[in-house]
Amino acid sequence: MSLRPAILDPLFAPATALPGVGPKIEQLLDRLVGEPGRPARIVDLLFHLPHGGISRELKGSIAEAPVGETVTLKVRVTEHRPGPPRRGKAPFRILVEDDTGDILLVFFNAHPERIQALLPVGSVRYVSGKIEIWDGYRQMVHPDRILDERRIGELPAVEAVYGLTEGLSTRLVGKFVGAALARVPALPEWQDQAFLEQSRFPAFGEALHQLHRPAAAADVSPEAAAASPAWRRLAYDELLASQLARSRMRRLPGRSNAGDGRIAKRITAALPFALTGAQQRALAELRRDMGSDKRMLRLLQGDVGSGKTAVALLAMASAIEAGRQTAMMAPTEILARQHFERIEPLARKAGLRLALLTGRDKGAERRRVLLGLAEGTIDIAVGTHALFQEGVEFRDLGLAVVDEQHRFGVHQRLALGQKGDAVDILVMTATPIPRTLALTYFGDMDVSVLDEKPPGRKPIATRLVSTERLQEVADAIGRAIKAGDRVYWICPLVAESELVDLAAAEDRFAELREVFGDAVGLVHGKLGPRERDAAMARFAAGETAIFVATTVVEVGVDVPEATVMVIEHAERFGLAQLHQLRGRIGRGERASTCLLLYKGPLGPMAKARLEMMRETEDGFRIAEEDLRLRGEGEILGTRQSGLAAFRLARTDIDGDLLGAARDDARLTVERDPRLEGERGQALRVLLYLFERDAAVRLLSAG
Ligand code: ADP
Ligand code: MG
Repeated sequence: MSLRPAILDPLFAPATALPGVGPKIEQLLDRLVGEPGRPARIVDLLFHLPHGGISRELKGSIAEAPVGETVTLKVRVTEHRPGPPRRGKAPFRILVEDDTGDILLVFFNAHPERIQALLPVGSVRYVSGKIEIWDGYRQMVHPDRILDERRIGELPAVEAVYGLTEGLSTRLVGKFVGAALARVPALPEWQDQAFLEQSRFPAFGEALHQLHRPAAAADVSPEAAAASPAWRRLAYDELLASQLARSRMRRLPGRSNAGDGRIAKRITAALPFALTGAQQRALAELRRDMGSDKRMLRLLQGDVGSGKTAVALLAMASAIEAGRQTAMMAPTEILARQHFERIEPLARKAGLRLALLTGRDKGAERRRVLLGLAEGTIDIAVGTHALFQEGVEFRDLGLAVVDEQHRFGVHQRLALGQKGDAVDILVMTATPIPRTLALTYFGDMDVSVLDEKPPGRKPIATRLVSTERLQEVADAIGRAIKAGDRVYWICPLVAESELVDLAAAEDRFAELREVFGDAVGLVHGKLGPRERDAAMARFAAGETAIFVATTVVEVGVDVPEATVMVIEHAERFGLAQLHQLRGRIGRGERASTCLLLYKGPLGPMAKARLEMMRETEDGFRIAEEDLRLRGEGEILGTRQSGLAAFRLARTDIDGDLLGAARDDARLTVERDPRLEGERGQALRVLLYLFERDAAVRLLSAG
């Protein structure tokens, strides 16, 4: 049951409601803008803002077209030059000309019939793409657009450029966003009119239009976007929604989950180690929150391997001592299983009853677990988002732990909170957020930090290796796996075309397989979750020793035997991503090595990043450096990973609006606590729009 105002229904319709979104596209959109357990919706597309623009304006001639820039040209097709037969890799070339000169259009892996139809000799076409020089000759490889006279009108003067996922092009995303824009209803204005005018902010729908349908490429450049009143408007909307929700949440009544320590004592005795000082501090903070009569909403932040699980388990012990149940939610099946297997022996020694619940559990076993949760015979439920789906009832849920939170949305963790009465919530993340940003990122949460690693960790030797020395790397890998080590081999997404990237990973896989045979496994984004998990499980079990992957290596997966991490094109990754990837190794008894393969020459930024990686393993230092090098807008790839508490607000750029939003929210709640006045009603729409509706429900209740 949702109290969402009906006026928002078109925005919360699934993306499949848009023309052209079939099952295949649906999956890709889910990956791009959905969340685990929550498929892509129209609003998610609308909030997927472009990060740049390409001018498609028709101007100039072949002779004048600048190399390295995207141009749109009107050309005549003069000649087809197919690759020689049975030489699959040779491209199909097409000579085109205008009155000033000629260029080649180049197509790899082309279907000759498709090209014939698209670019028949003698036809006039508009082609748009980047001009490059190859072998002294000007060419355009795979033009982005090929249109005839009839369809040239469809080409916008400026095309927004979107963040993508494997299999989706910016053109397709733009098309679906366009369809989504057409469905934006007229909404009541929830902002103060005087404030809008003074800030020169457009209305909500107008702001979306301006951003997705820029009039000039310069309007969507990063610099322009920073100052854009349209973006600032949306950012302010989001900040206000969060502050409004927060003003109320802070006052949420809770129930004390203070235990007497008897179960925690047994768990501590069963742990094969003593807690670090940082773990003890964090636990004390958690216990204090849980024992109070306010609701806990706390983030536990700690680098990979800092020992968050033990802290969470001991916090769960408190809630169980207080007579309540607990749940721990992981973003993927494999992580849920791993938590379960790690926690189970300890929990069993402490006399606790544990169950695993994932989307894959069906039939009698699932019914048994559901019954146990409802009757209260299960103390700890570990699982995926299946935990908060309908039909899952707890007798009395006291604490929900959400691991690796950047994979979940804000509303999902709240959904878990709604599975019980005044549930305390603990969110764990391995992504280090610089202290300077923690407040704005996690505006509605309190933060505990594990800033100390368990003793006895071996440092990871990090080396920078030029790709020219690939053979040496392969030799070293051979020696490592003979010695029983396991190896991650990461192939990044580098090319514009994801098909090309995928091909690169597959090529590498094939090459390694020639040398190492069945010891090599491959995982990439085109695989379904089951196949991915299965490949990961084979690696974890040692059936494969080399794990070739695009960047899908699951955050948090623990394979202590993995001691080597090879990252190809390391210069293309951000610092935080490199750090996350490297965190997959260095977990066991043996010394670990991280090889950062780069293709020179390195630019100054890339060089600074790679050297930073060599210098330190301290995630917080790396995060601070990342912030310094890149600016916060891009930090940690947050916008893509959904890490940030905000979808549109950029805390570095829009942070100055936070104070205003906070005051605005406070005043509003003081004047109209139940949001019943005219602006109050409109603000309810805003809260639902940004899915802070848990707060709306509470507002309407009290
Ligand atoms: P995180 O989830 O923070 O990445 P984990 O909770 O998985 O880290 O812990 C990483 C490893 O460190 C686990 O093998 C765990 O048993 C171990 N560990 C945790 N705390 C300590 C400690 N205080 N001393 C020694 N080892 C610890
Ligand atoms: Mg973990």
